[in-house]
Amino acid sequence: MKFLLMFFIVMVIAFQWRQSRKPKVQKAKRAATPPATTPAMVPCAHCGLHVPEADAVRGAHAYYCSAAHRQALEP
Ligand SMILES: [Zn+2]
Repeated sequence: MKFLLMFFIVMVIAFQWRQSRKPKVQKAKRAATPPATTPAMVPCAHCGLHVPEADAVRGAHAYYCSAAHRQALEP
């Protein structure tokens, strides 16, 4: 009977420990996924290289990867 009581106590403690661990595991999984806000990529009209829209050189009609490529197509 004493052994059964000890077994029951150990099982309750193990259950409580697992329940307290679950939210931490879910947080770790969520942190591993990439952020939803990825920058928009635009292709260069001259060479086709995809660059973030914030870093792209904006021409009259399209985006370019550098000022040199903009001048090559839009003198
Ligand atoms: Zn380019």
